[in-house]
Amino acid sequence: MLREGVGEIEPWPLAVELERFELPAAEPLPIALVEAVGKENVFTGTEDRVRHATGCGYADLARLRGGRLDAAPDAVVLPADGDALRRVLDVCTAERIAVVPFGGGTSVVGGVEPLRGLHERLISLDLTRLRGVEVDSRSLTARLGAGLRGPEAEAALGACDVTLGHFPQSFEYATIGGFAATRSAGQASSGYGRFDALVTAVRLVAPAGDLRTLETPHSAAGPALRELVVGSEGVFGVIPEVTVRVRPTPRVRRYEAWIAESFEAGSEIVRAMAQGPGLPDVIRVSDEEETRVSLALSGPRGVAGSLLGRYLGLRGKRDGCLIVVGVEGDEESVARRRALSVRALRAGGGAYLGQAAGRSWEHGRFQGPYLRDTLMDMGALVETLETSHTWSRLHGLHRAVGTAIRDSLAAQGTPGLVLCHLSHAYADGASLYFTFVSRARRGGEGEQWRQGNGGGDRQVGDQCLASSEGATRPGRHHESGKARPLTGSSRSRTQGAWRALHAATEDTDMRRALSADERAGDRASQNIRAGVSGQAFLLLGRGDLGFVRGV
Ligand SMILES: Cc1cc2nc3c(=O)[nH]c(=O)nc-3n(C[C@H](O)[C@H](O)[C@H](O)COP(=O)(O)OP(=O)(O)OC[C@H]3O[C@@H](n4cnc5c(N)ncnc54)[C@H](O)[C@@H]3O)c2cc1C
Repeated sequence: MLREGVGEIEPWPLAVELERFELPAAEPLPIALVEAVGKENVFTGTEDRVRHATGCGYADLARLRGGRLDAAPDAVVLPADGDALRRVLDVCTAERIAVVPFGGGTSVVGGVEPLRGLHERLISLDLTRLRGVEVDSRSLTARLGAGLRGPEAEAALGACDVTLGHFPQSFEYATIGGFAATRSAGQASSGYGRFDALVTAVRLVAPAGDLRTLETPHSAAGPALRELVVGSEGVFGVIPEVTVRVRPTPRVRRYEAWIAESFEAGSEIVRAMAQGPGLPDVIRVSDEEETRVSLALSGPRGVAGSLLGRYLGLRGKRDGCLIVVGVEGDEESVARRRALSVRALRAGGGAYLGQAAGRSWEHGRFQGPYLRDTLMDMGALVETLETSHTWSRLHGLHRAVGTAIRDSLAAQGTPGLVLCHLSHAYADGASLYFTFVSRARRGGEGEQWRQGNGGGDRQVGDQCLASSEGATRPGRHHESGKARPLTGSSRSRTQGAWRALHAATEDTDMRRALSADERAGDRASQNIRAGVSGQAFLLLGRGDLGFVRGV
């Protein structure tokens, strides 16, 4: 099937051994930096520098296969706690050393790239030693260290019989801090909420000062500073810990598969669920191409493959679209919510394929990335891009982006397969997640990737702008990294918000509000902290800091 879609491909061997890896020599770092964390927490070896020089996007993996990097951090620094982190940032600010926060390094948008800007020296600040866990079972909240990887956080929470319910496909390696810094969306985000919806409070350690927002369920006191930090992708400072909402560990997990006549029909079913009471925790509709590939991967004996094949055969159809539905909770709520989703599925013409196919999706939910490695070994380019739009515009966007990627790949003489699924559904719209595969153009992988990815990305941007008369940009889950053509606009959006805050606090109401609140007794504690952070923000706004990310 791969050959049919992309033509003949030749194996792409894994790169050279580490010892022969080419990367720029490391600049020496001041002794004060080593003293700030202890020399056992500063790493300058080739392996550490290589591991912290890229994320996990296709372009990163392609460069690593080449055995040569044009940029790498001078050192990897691992602060063991918040105090050490503060000391590192102080030294870096004083010495003008650029800092790139690093969690699990699963960024697919160039978010952990060692961009020096005007700085001569750069460190990768690895946060995986920040590992605190405090669970408040009564409030159903937990304070979690930024460095905990997904499974570590879930294991610690599970011991208290609660779950975060945040399972992005990068779950096995990505960290709590990375989830917060990228506003990550998990596979069960329709039910549990995206990570930004789970965060109740954050800490930010910035070069110019610290910010801690209060752990209150809600505040009506002005704009939420939390929102500037969640999704800031390391641009403003380091998130050492976050407080999140958790839920009791579900007693029942029911996953099942359905089939819809077409992608449009499947999306309409999800729209009905999202706009009514029946939205499951996991809902995912594959388009025709993705369904065909899932079928092929599951093989003639695979559960999904054989059920779907039988269903299509009985109806004399070639195509259908796979829907995965997952509901979690206690027995009563799973039964009630499942009944609602079944009603919507039947009303939209969906046909039941059974629990086995749903469970097989659940068990393989983190396997996609490993398949990507296999495909790259075989000589394929594999990349993903995602966007979201309102229900009214979603189908047009699906067609346009698919066509743009296909045309762009074909124009380069490397036609490809373009797969898409809908997930993360909301009352007003949903997200589309595209995967494309083609023959890797050996020796020109970077250029091929830029053109293929750029074709889709530009189309996403153009479509959103056109359909909203210039008012909307595509909504991505994270995008401030270097790799996205739209990055410039998103960075300036983030920085624009920052500058607006700066300007607002400089002269007018917001600054008055901050000082008025400082005098206002107990209620003021939140705002006094905001005032402190306001100062930090003012300094940050002046832009003479060690952070080059996003500048
Ligand atoms: C195979 C694969 C599957 C993926 N699936 C999903 C998915 O389902 N949903 C999704 O949303 N994303 C997904 N991603 C993208 C990525 O994994 C997520 O964005 C993840 O949240 C990043 O976490 P991390 O710890 O790896 O962060 P990193 O990659 O280390 O960093 C990401 C960005 O955040 C900054 N950063 C990291 N930690 C901190 C911190 N503590 N303080 C300040 N800044 C920080 C970094 O500087 C960088 O800019 C996937 C990536 C891969 C490779």
